[in-house]
Amino acid sequence: MADVNMSFKAVHDLAKSTLMTHGCDAENAGAVADIITRAEGDGCHSHGLMRLPGYVATLKSGKVNGKARPTIKKLAPAVVQVNGHNGLAPLALAEGRAHLIEAAKTCGIAAMPLIGIHHFAALWTEVEPVSEAGLVAFACTSYKPAVIPAGGTKALYGTNPICFGWPRKDGPPMVFDQASSVMARGEVMLAAREGHSLPEGVGVDAAGNPSTDPDEVLKGALLAFGGYKGSSIAMMVELLAGGLIGESFSFEAAMRDNGDGGPPQGGEFMLAMDPNLFGDAGGWADHAEKLFDKIKEQDGARLPGERRHTNRADNAKSGVAVSQIILDKISAL
Ligand code: NDP
Repeated sequence: MADVNMSFKAVHDLAKSTLMTHGCDAENAGAVADIITRAEGDGCHSHGLMRLPGYVATLKSGKVNGKARPTIKKLAPAVVQVNGHNGLAPLALAEGRAHLIEAAKTCGIAAMPLIGIHHFAALWTEVEPVSEAGLVAFACTSYKPAVIPAGGTKALYGTNPICFGWPRKDGPPMVFDQASSVMARGEVMLAAREGHSLPEGVGVDAAGNPSTDPDEVLKGALLAFGGYKGSSIAMMVELLAGGLIGESFSFEAAMRDNGDGGPPQGGEFMLAMDPNLFGDAGGWADHAEKLFDKIKEQDGARLPGERRHTNRADNAKSGVAVSQIILDKISAL
């Protein structure tokens, strides 16, 4: 089925109005529409309009409060807790951001634990604005069990993405954002929808046998990237976004979840650092460029995030190609 060309505004309007029809207030709907539009704009379709049916499912089932108002509490001078009060993550993130930035610029380093949220998005949409404010930033979040601990047989960890942002003097920050599974579940869903098979080594079926069929892997489990090394990173994310901040581990989130197809309630951990307060205020930016230049001078090597920025510039001119299948699913809501 052919794709449909949409402007960023049309994507935003569709996302916002759909969410408002199903119980979000304007602030919550607008915050989710912002990150869906940014995902489509950067060519990250697995976290764009494709997520709308999942968001709507959580609103319809009553799991999420689409009118939740996040609250902010300083637990320590450099620890800004955001409680989403059972709402969707984007508004909690948007409202906490200025407090995190201010605390990091005052203290040099600050953390933002987010609790009581439902996270269904790409982390770069959250880290990039913090790095655009001149800060080094990190974020991670857990989900529901989808990844087998190295050597084990059953899914225990979420796909647990980690995202890191580095501000740059000229141009957008360098941001990488990656699941700790070999492939993000959203990418597996996309492959299932488009009828592509997966590369070897991505996941197993429900019986634990290696499979390249995305539908079977969605019923089974994913493998962590890099074997036991990625598995430890997935465990770290569980500890930071769950154990440290008084929120659920992925297996606990799943026990509470009603299985409506949307994101479970859980937590997120964000960190921000002011590079001007770490001992090389005059030099850090140029120094980092030397490293970036060395990477780019190698044929075939590039900085993470460059693909997205190219897509962003192209799509701003020509619009976004959205799958008709997704639009039909949204109409059916
Ligand atoms: P990818 O494997 O597609 O990309 C991971 C990172 O590597 C990106 O920053 C990408 O930059 C970079 N990269 C890719 N190729 C190269 C290359 N050749 N050289 C240098 N850098 C490169 O991402 P994943 O599939 O692991 O994750 C996709 C998304 O899913 C993420 O945004 C993540 O936040 C999200 N996610 C969300 C979850 C949630 O619960 N909310 C759970 C799991 C994942 P570029 O974009 O420029 O290609």
